[in-house]
Amino acid sequence: MKILLIAEYRDGQLLSGYSELLGFAENMGAETAMFVVGSDAALPAYGGKLYLADAAACGEFNPDLHKQMILDVVAKEQPDMVAFSHSSYGWDLAPRVAYGMKAAQVSEVVEVKDGAMVVPVCNSKLRRTVTCKTAQTVVTLQAGAFTPVEADGSPAVEKVAVDGQGRVVFEGYEEAEAGGVDLSKAEVIVSAGRGIGKADNVEMIAALAKALGGEYGASRPVVDSEWVEHNRQVGTTGQTVAPKLYLACGISGAIQHLAGMKKSEFVVAVNTDKDAPISEVADVLVVADLLQFVPALTEKVEAL
Ligand code: FAD
Repeated sequence: MKILLIAEYRDGQLLSGYSELLGFAENMGAETAMFVVGSDAALPAYGGKLYLADAAACGEFNPDLHKQMILDVVAKEQPDMVAFSHSSYGWDLAPRVAYGMKAAQVSEVVEVKDGAMVVPVCNSKLRRTVTCKTAQTVVTLQAGAFTPVEADGSPAVEKVAVDGQGRVVFEGYEEAEAGGVDLSKAEVIVSAGRGIGKADNVEMIAALAKALGGEYGASRPVVDSEWVEHNRQVGTTGQTVAPKLYLACGISGAIQHLAGMKKSEFVVAVNTDKDAPISEVADVLVVADLLQFVPALTEKVEAL
């Protein structure tokens, strides 16, 4: 099997996600080639063949043009699969490339089981196994799902000609509003999940974090409900944290959340469901109602 890996480049930097694409390819036992719109100054540590299009000539984000260049590389390499990161770049390009190849497209792959793709459904509550009937497949891979492979060596670079400008004009990136809290530096984080039930209960999570000398964070549904501001969100679309202690309260442990906190030294999860996926990464699982457990723990800590 051969996989064409699509690396990403942003603001003059090669994004590290390509090492997860390499991890996926290794998992599949596949040979690889790589494509990136980037620059000679930021090449991946990858010993294989790299198709390089000049970002200065075609724009870092220009789906129309990038699609055409990828299809040209596909015609040359004839890969069985094209793999993107499940990022805004991948979301935009993968379906366009799949349509151009007349190939099946599978989004947000989190695992490969007996050659079939496993993807989350129903807001990650369930998983579905997908087998494609087309000869070629295009996939996007969920961040954190595949162990990164730190490849070495220098790529054999083949420059890709940039032909035309496509129909999209790339104007630049807009920075998200800077947040006040930098969770990446916190040694203790107490995070609130949907299990807290309502906005008023954020207070008890914040109180426990304060008693422990740490910060409080949240899962995405809590942020989406506007109970907590976005700069406290942990996960693939929030912050990546690595505290000494991570206390997950009412958090199920979806892969997008785990990707943001799996480097924590010690994980305690409080959940009414003993089989919640968070139990797989937790050092200690407290099977309890957080509405009773959290205030009781805060009281004990405050009394120390
Ligand atoms: P749920 O999955 O609903 O879990 C709630 C948990 O609380 C359950 O395990 C339940 O048993 C428990 N519970 C309920 N009541 C109590 C109680 N009284 N006491 C104790 N436990 C209780 N999610 C993120 O967190 N961060 C991200 O950055 C992120 N990015 C995403 C990006 C994409 C592209 C997508 C598709 C999804 C993303 N998600 C992200 C969402 C993610 O898939 C999950 O939906 C989300 O993490 C679930 O949040 P949760 O665990 O708080 O809620």
